[in-house]
Amino acid sequence: MAKNVHNDYKMKFSKDEEFPDLSLHNNHMAKVLTKDIYDKLRGKSTPSGFTVDDVIQTGVDNPGHPFIMTVGCVAGDEECYEVFKDLLDPIISDRHGGYKPTDKHKTDLEFEHLKVREQTSIMASEYSCVCCVSVSPQGGDDLDPNYVLSSRVRTGRSIKGFTLPPHNSRGERRAIEKLSIEALASLDGEFKGKYYPLSGMTDAEQDQLINDHFLFDKPVSPLLTCAGMARDWPDGRGIWHNNDKTFLVWVNEEDHLRVISMQKGGNMKEVFRRFCVGLKKIEEIFKKHNHGFSWSEHLGYILTCPSNLGTGLRGGVHVKLAKLSTHAKFEEILTRLRLQKRGTGGVDTASVGGVFDISNADRLGSSEVDQCQMVVDGVKLMVEMEKKLEKGESIDGMIPAQK
Ligand code: ADP
Ligand code: MG
Repeated sequence: MAKNVHNDYKMKFSKDEEFPDLSLHNNHMAKVLTKDIYDKLRGKSTPSGFTVDDVIQTGVDNPGHPFIMTVGCVAGDEECYEVFKDLLDPIISDRHGGYKPTDKHKTDLEFEHLKVREQTSIMASEYSCVCCVSVSPQGGDDLDPNYVLSSRVRTGRSIKGFTLPPHNSRGERRAIEKLSIEALASLDGEFKGKYYPLSGMTDAEQDQLINDHFLFDKPVSPLLTCAGMARDWPDGRGIWHNNDKTFLVWVNEEDHLRVISMQKGGNMKEVFRRFCVGLKKIEEIFKKHNHGFSWSEHLGYILTCPSNLGTGLRGGVHVKLAKLSTHAKFEEILTRLRLQKRGTGGVDTASVGGVFDISNADRLGSSEVDQCQMVVDGVKLMVEMEKKLEKGESIDGMIPAQK
């Protein structure tokens, strides 16, 4: 076992003296962590020196909200998921719908597997008319752009051989940035682009990129800062994007890499195609540089936050649902369609003018294609519901079964 002198030092206090006060907490970590689990894990450390106190610190410092369940822990390296599995396995199960330690994850990045014309399976019978399904009135756009303002698919990737953002040193973070710049520079064609370090940007340029939804927010969230992910900001952070700003890579935010495909309108098929093709190219290039991505059969792609394990995929749209969002069954419909909502400024923001960010709720145990399919099908149905409500008609007959 790796040696961590600071952690050994704490051992002169008993588990009772060291155990955190979680009495006000509402997060998955606090739900799972018992004194016995803590006692079993507190003397351990991963090869890079990450301890159980480091894993749980953000959840201890952020009790959370009575109605919003956060995860309450992070990984500092990929070994955390093995060394601290007595804590992390139940959290993963709790967060990912009962996913068991013996379960295997599926990966499917074949964009042709996404079905964008099949509405029959999700619509009530009056909407399953074949002629409505086969004709796309938006000339290739799949989701109605009068409602769907923009479409986006993102994932995270951890580069093997480095510790994760809550734990990496300045030197390590800069090495990740350097490797990423070299690797991404070899992309060509529609993916040809350029890296923009945060430290080389003016505040105005940065704000513009954030307001245009291209760049991660400033590290204001206590979930991020308490996890140690904002250390040395903006050192080593930046954004790479292609010339059209439709394929983007964030470097050293919550994950080593966040890979994003996005564009205005509702053409999720095209966004997903670009996502899959670009992501595979990136993985090949990193492999050529002797760094693959962290992945296991059980956990899929291994990322900083346990909530993102699996595909790490969040496929979503900004969609106008002014009427549906005030309907009594809105939350239930989202749950049944396995979707989640956010405001248009990103996580923890409110919706403005009835526009929501609607995305897949699942990450682990189903594939990228399955999760994106859930979004395409669910959003289609919700847009149809919105149109019905606009006409003053009832949507009672359209409430979907639990997926
Ligand atoms: P994530 O961490 O999943 O990438 P966040 O909720 O932190 O997402 O949002 C990051 C940024 O991406 C925000 O500026 C948000 O507005 C933008 N964004 C998310 N989904 C979309 C979308 N479908 N269209 C346009 N911008 C989006
Ligand atoms: Mg985020």
